[in-house]
This record gives sequence, C-alpha cells and structure tokens, in this order.
Amino acid sequence: KKSRANDYVHEVYELVKKRNPDEKEFLQATREIFDSLRPVFAEHPEYIRNGILERITEPERIISFRVAWEDDKGKVHVNRGYRVQFNSDLGPYKGGLRFHPSVNSSIMKFLAFEQIFKNALTGQPIGAGKGGSDFDPKGKSEREIMRFTQSFMTELSKYIGPDIDVPAGDIGVGKREIGYMFGQYNRLKSGYEAGVLTGKDPSHGGSLGRKEATGYGTVYFVEEMLNENGLSFKGSTVIVSGSGNVSTYAIEKAHQLGAKVIACSDSGGYILDRNGIDLETVKRLKEVENKRIWEYTKDHPDAEYHEDCSEIWSIPCDIALPCATQNEIDELAAHMLIANGVKAIGEGANMPCNIEAINIFLENNILFAPAKAANAGGVAVSAMEMSQNSMRLAWTEEEVDERLKKVMENIYASCKNAAESFGKPGNLVMGANIAGFLKVANAMVAHGI
Ligand code: GLU
Repeated sequence: KKSRANDYVHEVYELVKKRNPDEKEFLQATREIFDSLRPVFAEHPEYIRNGILERITEPERIISFRVAWEDDKGKVHVNRGYRVQFNSDLGPYKGGLRFHPSVNSSIMKFLAFEQIFKNALTGQPIGAGKGGSDFDPKGKSEREIMRFTQSFMTELSKYIGPDIDVPAGDIGVGKREIGYMFGQYNRLKSGYEAGVLTGKDPSHGGSLGRKEATGYGTVYFVEEMLNENGLSFKGSTVIVSGSGNVSTYAIEKAHQLGAKVIACSDSGGYILDRNGIDLETVKRLKEVENKRIWEYTKDHPDAEYHEDCSEIWSIPCDIALPCATQNEIDELAAHMLIANGVKAIGEGANMPCNIEAINIFLENNILFAPAKAANAGGVAVSAMEMSQNSMRLAWTEEEVDERLKKVMENIYASCKNAAESFGKPGNLVMGANIAGFLKVANAMVAHGI
C-alpha cells in the first residue's frame, strides 16, 4: 500500500511539473503538499481511485484579463489582471487580490493553491481562489489607484458574486482599494451586494476585527504552540518582517502578550529599535501617510535603519514572524536564526520560508507554525464578514475576536492531531497539510468526478 501510494504521488507530481514547467512558486507549493501527503494515500486508496491529487492541483478555472487605465497625465497603461478559481468543493471561491509588480500566473496559482488548505482548516464554508494584477501601486496618486481598481473590477465583476467568488485584500490591496472595487461592482450590478467582497471598511459592511485578524491570528496560533512546549510570548524578543497589515497587528498582539518586538521592515530595508518598536509611529507612517519605514528613525533617533532586508534575520531573537512575502527566509537565513538561538518561527505571510529552510527548522527542533494554519485568521474573519453580511447585522469587535481565537485554537488542535495520527508528532507542517487536505478530499469524493 505504501509503495502504491508513493508511486501515485510521484506520478502526479511528474504530471504537475510537465503541465506547469516554468511556474516555480506553484511547483514549490505543490511539492511541499505532496511530501506531506504520502502517508495519507497509503491509508486512503479511495483518494487514488477518485484521482484527488490530479484534480486538486489543476485549478477549476483561470481567468486572465486586460486592465487598461489612464494616468494623471493622460497616458494609457495596460496591466494584466487574474483570478484563479481553484477549488469550490467547500464553498464559494475565497481569497485575496494582490497588486504587485511580481504578480504572474505562478504566483497567483501558488497563492490560490495554498488557500485551498488554509480555508479548509478554518472550518468555514469557503472554497479557494486568488487574484490580482502586476500593477504597482507604489508612487501612484489616489485617482490613479481609483481608475485602475475600477477598470480591474469592470472585468472581474463578470466572474464573482456573493455565492460564486468573494475576493478580499492581500499585498497592495487594503480597505481603500476594496472600497473603490465595491463601489464599481455595485454600480455595474445596479444593486447592493454586500457579501461580494470582504475586507470592507466597517462603515459600509466590513467586519470589525478584520483588519487585525491575520496578525492577531498568527500570534494566537504561535502562542498555542509555545504554551504547548512550556514557552510563551511573555518576555520574548521578537522579529517581525514587513510593516503592512499582517505585521502591524502581529506586533500589536505580541506586545499585548508581553513580548518585545525589536525589528520590522518594508521592501526598502528594516529598522531595529532595541527599545521595542513604537507601533504608533509605524501605523502613522504606513496606514496614514504612506511613507517608507526608514522615516521611523526621524522620530526615534536611537533606532537603526539597514537597507538589506534579508539581514533582518541576523538579529538575535526568540521568535521570528516572517509577515512580508513569499520566500523571504532561505537556508542561509534559517541557519542564521538558529545560530542566534531562535526557538520558534510563525509564518504570517504566505510561504515565507522555502522548503529547505522549513526542513532545517524541523531538523533542528525549532517550533514551526506553517502559514496555511498560522495566517488563516484573516480569511477566517473574512468568512465571518460574509456571515454578517448575509444576516444583515454586525458583531462587536469582542465577539469577532473571541470567534477568531476559537478558530485559531481549533486549527492548532487539528494540525497537532493530524501530525500525531500520521506518525509525525509535533510536525505542524505535515499536520496542517494533511488536516486541510482531508476536509477538501472528502468533499471532492462526495461530489463525484
Ligand atoms: N489575502 C489573505 C490570505 O492570504 C486573506 C484572504 C481573504 O480574506 O479572503 O489569506
């Protein structure tokens, strides 16, 4: 049974490679899943009979479209828009939109693929998708952002809906962009479909607690993992990469739990403030003024600014929370962190550690909270936003936070139990992949081929 399962996984991986030859991020994400799933297929031959692995690795639909827009000087630009509708066995497609120049089909597919397992882990009725554009919001005026997002939504609106596909934010897409897109969607549909997008501002149908959810959720998950091992955020020194939505609220919650966060970053470099990051300054710079993180040093002359982002991992710390983007921690960074005594890693971004780095952490018994589980809080509260929109009511911030905490505790328990029952106690990477997979695979079997 074991060798039949291994042959099956090998065969399908070869097929995926052949079908997606140049998509390195997508192949990285599938390889990590395939490595975890071998023992599952030995115990569940029905998944092999139903071709689950072949089906789960091929998106149900990939939409790619032209986004034409005019800048403030009247020059016309064309960007490419995407929506990958990967899997709808657990509910409407659900996942963010990313506006970043690095966006391409591989990045979109890896993110949508990760979303399948992450969304399943939340226990909520949501399928998986992702979208975005290679548009670079950096340096664009307010009106340029508005024109771009409206043009983007003019096309995307044909493929989404509250019961079909519900996008949200991701890198480069926050409540401002969601607001413009929501306005454009409703204009085009001549109605008011509150549940078509999540991450809206609470003043027009957004959920309280959504903005904080991913960062808070990551810290809740990591705290569960630490407590289980006799550790805690309390009194720990923490490094957080990024300074966007995930990082900001991971820092906030880590501080509330008694940790000292001493560094964060943006794509230009990182700041190191040994007194502890002053979050009010970071929020003002990033949420209000749209400034670069180096300006933090203007208010805090004791803090250091360094231009090489990857060097952030050379700062000694107890806990590292990569919350910026994919593949920010490689083998070298992993070795540096371990040499400096790191005890735990929590992935707030999607796939921030490459496979080699993950294996190095696991081999060295560093506690490791994988992204699919640790950053699922954002999409979990998005699903709560959908529920509130359907019921036409709004929960209090406390109620949302309580539900978020419960979801993160449940995810931790599912990952831990799956790792134990498949013979790798404590390996939450395997646990998250298997627990998420089982939920989707059972639904796929039930729904037929
Ligand atoms: N972009 C976030 C993620 O990676 C949130 C998605 C959502 O809320 O739909 O999970």
